[in-house]
Amino acid sequence: MATKERSPGERALDDLSDDDVASFAADLRGEPVFPADDGYDDARELWNGMIDRYPAVVARCTGTADVVAAVNFARETGLPLAVRGGGHNVSGSAVCDGGLVIDLAPMNGVFVDPEARSVRVGGGAVLGDVDRETQLHGLAAPLGVVSQTGVGGLTLNGGVGHLRREHGLACDNVRSVEVVTAAGEVVRASESRRPDLFWGVRGGGGNFGVVTEFEYDLHAVGPEVVGLFVWYHGDDAVTALRGFRDWSESAPRQASVLPFTAFVPDTEEFPEHSWGEPAIVLLGCFAGDPGDAAHVLRPLRTLASSVADLSGPVPYVELQSMLDEDYPDGLRYYWKSVFLDHLSDEVIELTARYGRASPSALSTVDIWHLGGAIADVPPDATAYWHREAPFMLNFEANWEAPEDDEENVAWVRDGIEAARALPGVAGQYANFPGFGDDPSRLTFGGNAERLAEVKATYDPENLFRFNQNVAPASDAAK
Ligand code: FAD
Repeated sequence: MATKERSPGERALDDLSDDDVASFAADLRGEPVFPADDGYDDARELWNGMIDRYPAVVARCTGTADVVAAVNFARETGLPLAVRGGGHNVSGSAVCDGGLVIDLAPMNGVFVDPEARSVRVGGGAVLGDVDRETQLHGLAAPLGVVSQTGVGGLTLNGGVGHLRREHGLACDNVRSVEVVTAAGEVVRASESRRPDLFWGVRGGGGNFGVVTEFEYDLHAVGPEVVGLFVWYHGDDAVTALRGFRDWSESAPRQASVLPFTAFVPDTEEFPEHSWGEPAIVLLGCFAGDPGDAAHVLRPLRTLASSVADLSGPVPYVELQSMLDEDYPDGLRYYWKSVFLDHLSDEVIELTARYGRASPSALSTVDIWHLGGAIADVPPDATAYWHREAPFMLNFEANWEAPEDDEENVAWVRDGIEAARALPGVAGQYANFPGFGDDPSRLTFGGNAERLAEVKATYDPENLFRFNQNVAPASDAAK
């Protein structure tokens, strides 16, 4: 008689003692979710529908003590350990087969101190949780551009958002963190306390422990800013991107702009005759004096005859969630990035060509304008290395049907490979890492050795390895 094959999660549980599992479950204040439980499939699902993994247990942690219990249990039993913040990293590193997942989602408290211009944020919060509270006071922490993204992964790997050129990366705005290390110790890190760990968590990803709390600097932003959202026909892509390049050379820091290729959606904001046509879109934010916005953004709104221009004043929280519906849970995603030391004609041509040829109308090729405050910080001052690059190119394949997986993944890989063959193209951004298929040195560049030293101090056995992984320095020396 055929028996149903046991999943990796069930097999891993079989190898553990029932008493150990029961005592771990009793130790948690939050809910442990096991393969036999009703909520198991929900608990193991990630934003990216490409990822289908079966952990032994998902520990829904409600506080630091739960995280300590989970880290200790994984270390003592030898279970693989994954950490889930917002569950949005495209690589799916937040869930592992046959292991323990620390799910930080219940730890999403946000506490603003308007006088100190700071906010304390639970390690499982998403961007929208933070913006909602900080905007009550007309303040914002620089994060990303989609409200459902987790602050955890976004910040630990850098974090680029609408305020990036004026206020830097999300990680540049971290004042302190609380971390549970591989030994299960709870430590605080800041410029003055454990500066090595503080250096590492600002760009080194989840390599050093579980961040249970981030404390960020806040800046006066909004409540209304000026959004740029202008759509041109794809036939004008090269002209528009060259115009954007000219504008970027003297762009003020208060403006952060992100051109991307797309296809015109069939919605009422767009003329019907343009639906489905290839497009080049300029998305951005001007968070300076609103009186200056028209003058600053005008050149970008007149690069060609627009299909639609939806630019204008917008509440900051609205801008922050404007793209949410484009990235539903469960769709299939594969994203990959490179940094550019200039925006060459070749990259512009490649962007336009690949954008048009995308196998899915939901996919985009994005050019992030960086520089400004990001480049004020030397590359070795924090673990985030690629500060001098004024642009980042990111291929986003977004599609629906599993039978189209191969074609869409190949489109991204071909595009990235073609870009890497061009002069001035290097590196990778850990928040857009494909399936983590490339060596982590691409991400960490000249900071790789120092990261390995910090790793050896805080996680010598590489317990935290489902990430852009840094091997502990001692491993390399063996
Ligand atoms: P998860 O998948 O939960 O975590 C990824 C990894 O980070 C984990 O495997 C773990 O190693 C680590 N990790 C997460 N939280 C913690 C924690 N508290 N402590 C220790 N380790 C932790 N990036 C940008 O820079 N700017 C953007 O505007 C932007 N927009 C995006 C929009 C969408 C729709 C999506 C899906 C992604 C976007 N990203 C953006 C990329 C995003 O920053 C990364 O996917 C990021 O890793 C997501 O963080 P997360 O906590 O949701 O991910």
